Amino acid sequence: MEKILQQAFISPYIERLSRPIVTNIIRDQVSRFKKQILSEQNNTSFSLDQLYKNINNACWQMHQQRLQRVVNGTGVIVHTNLGRSPINAELWQSVGDVNTHYNNLEIDLHTGKRGKRKGIITELMTQLVDGEDTLVVNNNASSIYLMLHELAQGKEVIVSRGEQIQIGGGFRIPDILALSGAKLVEVGTTNITTTQDYLDAITEDTAMVMIIHTSNFKIRGFTKSADIKELAKNLPDHVVLAVDQGSGTTTENMPDEPTVTSYIHAGADIVCFSGDKILGGPQAGLITGKQDLIKRLEKNPMMRAFRPSRIVYSLIEELAVRKLNQLESGQGVAEYRSTAAEQSLQHRAEQLAEGFGEQIQVVRSEMTVGGGSLPDQTTPSWSVELYPQDQKLQRSAEKVLKIMRSWPLPVIGVIKHDKVQLNMATIDDAEIDYLRRQLAEVLQ
Ligand SMILES: *Cc1c(COP(=O)(O)O)cnc(C)c1O
Repeated sequence: MEKILQQAFISPYIERLSRPIVTNIIRDQVSRFKKQILSEQNNTSFSLDQLYKNINNACWQMHQQRLQRVVNGTGVIVHTNLGRSPINAELWQSVGDVNTHYNNLEIDLHTGKRGKRKGIITELMTQLVDGEDTLVVNNNASSIYLMLHELAQGKEVIVSRGEQIQIGGGFRIPDILALSGAKLVEVGTTNITTTQDYLDAITEDTAMVMIIHTSNFKIRGFTKSADIKELAKNLPDHVVLAVDQGSGTTTENMPDEPTVTSYIHAGADIVCFSGDKILGGPQAGLITGKQDLIKRLEKNPMMRAFRPSRIVYSLIEELAVRKLNQLESGQGVAEYRSTAAEQSLQHRAEQLAEGFGEQIQVVRSEMTVGGGSLPDQTTPSWSVELYPQDQKLQRSAEKVLKIMRSWPLPVIGVIKHDKVQLNMATIDDAEIDYLRRQLAEVLQ
C-alpha cells in the first residue's frame, strides 16, 4: 500500500480527493486485482502496470465527480446542469473580506444589541423593485413553499391549469402546494385562463391566487392569460395575489420577460423570484411586496430552516448596490452575455478557428438564455464546428464530446447535425487559447 501511495501519479489525486479516499480506492482495486489473478487458472503473468492503470482509472472517475470549473460551449447562458448563473468574479472577490472575518450578521452596530440578519437588503430591494419589504431564503422553491405555508395553509389557492408546471428536477407546483397544506383549486384550461376564471373560483376559503411564470416552456398560438392589473383590482381583500416571477428580472433589459417591478406595479401583493438566474447573484429565493405579508413570512417557523447564510446575504447586498450604481459588475451573466455584439462572437469564433483549416469551421448559430427564463427565445450567435482528421472521431460526435469532457478543464459542447459545435456566446476570450491547444490534439 505504501509503495503504491508513493507513485508519482497518485499525489495529484491525494490533493484533489484526500488521502483516505485514495487509500480506499487503491485497497479496492488491489483486492479486485487479486481476485482476478486467482480466478485465472492459466497463470497469466501479473502486471503491476495493469494494476496502476486500474487505480488511475478509478481515481480519475472519482475526480471527475468533484465539483469543478468547466467551459460552457452550449450557447445556453443560464444552464441548469452547468451551475446556472456564474457569479461575477469582481462581485465574488468583494465579499471575501466579510466572509473570512467576523461580521455584524446579527448585531446592531449602532446599539450593540442583537440585530436583524438582513442588513440593508430591504432598502436596496425597495429601490430595485419597489416592493415595501423583502426577505431572502435559500432558493426560489423555498419561497413558494413559505408563501403557501404561511399564507394559505388549510385554505384554497387558485392556480391556472396553464401554470401547473414542473420546474427542473421533480419540483412540481401541485406537489409543493399539497406539501404546504394548501388546497389547489385549478381554473381555466391549458391555453386560456381569464381574469373571470379566477374571480369565479373565489370562495370564503380562498387565501391566495398564485400566478406562476411558465419559465421553462411556452405555449404558442391561441393563448390567453389573465391581466394581472385587472385581477388585482377585482380580488376581495381576503385573497393574496402572489406571483412567482422565477428568473429575477429587475433592471436587466430582457425582452418579453416581465420584471419583478412590473408585477408589483400591476398590484401583486407579493412576488418571489430567484437570486441567480437573471439577477446574477447566488442561488437564493427573494420575496418582495407588502410589508405585513413579508413580516408574517419572516415569523414562520420554517424561516429558520430556509434562511440563508451570510455568504448569500453579502453577495446579494453587494450585487444590489452595484446594480443601483449601474456598474458592469452588477450585471448577471444572462444580461451581459445576451447583449454581446454578434460581431464579437464571430470574431471569437474566427480566432479559435484560425490556422485549423478544414478542421474548424465558423458557423452561424443561436444562443438562448435558458435556465427557466425566456423560453423559446433565441438570438443570433456564432459557433465553431469540428471536423477531426481521425475518421473514427469524425464519425462519432459523442466520442469527441467525451474527450472534451476529460480535458484538465472540461469542455461541454453540443451536437448539431451530427457535428460537434462550440458556441461562442458562452465562451470567454480568455478561454480561447486553452481551447486552441486542446483542440489541436484531438483534431490532428
Ligand atoms: C427556477 C424557478 C423556480 C425554482 O427556483 P430555485 O431557485 O431553483 O429553487 C421556481 N419557479 C420558477 C417560475 C422558476 O423559474
